[in-house]
Amino acid sequence: MRFKLLLASLFITALGNLSLQAQQDPTVAAIIKEANENSQLKRMSHELMDGIGPRLVGSTKMLQASDWAIAQYQQYGIPARRENYGTWRGWDRGITHVDMISPWTKSLEATQLAFSPSTKKAVKGETIILADVQDSAAFQQWLPNVKGKFVLVAMPQPTGRPDYNWKEFATKASMDKIQQERKEQTEAWRKRISKTGYNNRTLAIALEKAGAAGIIGSNWSQGFGVNKIFDSYTKKIPTIDVMLEDYGLLYRLTESGRAPVISVNAQSRELGEVATFNTLAEIKGTTKPDEYVMLSAHFDSWDGGTGATDNGTGTMVMMEAMRILKKVYPNPKRTILVGHWGSEEQGLNGSRAFVEDHPEIVSNLQALFNQDNGTGRIVNMSGSGYAKAKDYLGRWIAAIPGEYKDSIKTTFPGMPGGGGSDHASFVAVGAPAFSLGALNWSYFNYTWHTNRDTYDKIVFDDLRNNAIVTAILVYMACEDPERSSNEKAVLPGAQNNRSWPAQVKAKRRGGFDQ
Ligand SMILES: [Zn+2]
Repeated sequence: MRFKLLLASLFITALGNLSLQAQQDPTVAAIIKEANENSQLKRMSHELMDGIGPRLVGSTKMLQASDWAIAQYQQYGIPARRENYGTWRGWDRGITHVDMISPWTKSLEATQLAFSPSTKKAVKGETIILADVQDSAAFQQWLPNVKGKFVLVAMPQPTGRPDYNWKEFATKASMDKIQQERKEQTEAWRKRISKTGYNNRTLAIALEKAGAAGIIGSNWSQGFGVNKIFDSYTKKIPTIDVMLEDYGLLYRLTESGRAPVISVNAQSRELGEVATFNTLAEIKGTTKPDEYVMLSAHFDSWDGGTGATDNGTGTMVMMEAMRILKKVYPNPKRTILVGHWGSEEQGLNGSRAFVEDHPEIVSNLQALFNQDNGTGRIVNMSGSGYAKAKDYLGRWIAAIPGEYKDSIKTTFPGMPGGGGSDHASFVAVGAPAFSLGALNWSYFNYTWHTNRDTYDKIVFDDLRNNAIVTAILVYMACEDPERSSNEKAVLPGAQNNRSWPAQVKAKRRGGFDQ
């Protein structure tokens, strides 16, 4: 009896030591120490987001950012390179100044959309609301009215307060009423567009052909002070996004017959056809150099803000993890490769091109870790639909100390990513690629593709956490004596022909005729 007890207690002690050992792996400890004591996240974020700015595909800034990252890696002693995979229409954003000059004077908060044609000099004109016509024939009759005018093509929002603000302060009755109003008006505006016989894209071109001075929209992101800024469809006249407050002002004044006049100065530069590329950096493996563990985050952004959380933060996490790994784990068993992808925002083009161009890497992939949903701590990981992901990912995650691991919720086998971000390009060809899912931090309303996606929204403590988690996962994946498995799990709903996402070809030339 006593002997058995003793054995049992020895066994328990051994278990205790084992878990203690996992905690005290000297490389894991060194990763954490380096991340906490010598973080380069703030410096790098300032240099990239503030010093260079947004990284629109085809822009000079995207190229500058790539040069900066390569130089940064060289400073860390990590060989880095740019790999061209195609071309895109080149365009550099200039100033956007929009002022209301009648019936009173106010500078408006406005931004030209990406790839908007330049005005050369300031253009003045009255505003006109897109007419609510009976059908496309009536619209053709109305079209000449837009000549020389700025056309307001967006629905005016019934409220500039986000729902959470209404929920906090409104009576139930007025909350219900405002939601109902918005629903009805949104539906009515959708019909107003469709009755023209055009969609948003072709409508802009039709207005341009009819002699409009410019297109004025407002893509509210349902928070205070946030609009989403995407790209323009026009070829000669500017397309401008005006923030909710100022757009509402222009709309109401136009509607009430006060005939506002605005002055628009939107400058930009066409650069012709320029290269699109991925930026890569690599720490060569020692015993298994032909097997790869990849870090992944798209490098490009939309350009209403500076792309700080989409995807500056993912970029920073991967660069910082690479720096730490090079310092504390310079001789990995497998090769560590980071992909900073181009043109994710136009359809995962950089990562899709890499998958097409590098079968030798993709087929020897131990694992890829991608991050692309904002600044938050990593709280979700899934097995991407791989049957045995739990075995190996589980082993690697187990090496992360509790304070960094405890908030990570895992789902196995999980579902294969369909196309939300770059890991999907790899999953589509059956490579073990995983998403490091971040805590929300009001990402979708407040920073994702908005004018407010800027440095000040970065949560550096969470980034530091993520660099630690990523570096430990990469370290464990490099050291694992076993190869990961890419055996696919039977997907739920497979009996209903639910299938693995298919590979999609990279767009190798874009932006010219949209
Ligand atoms: Zn993104």
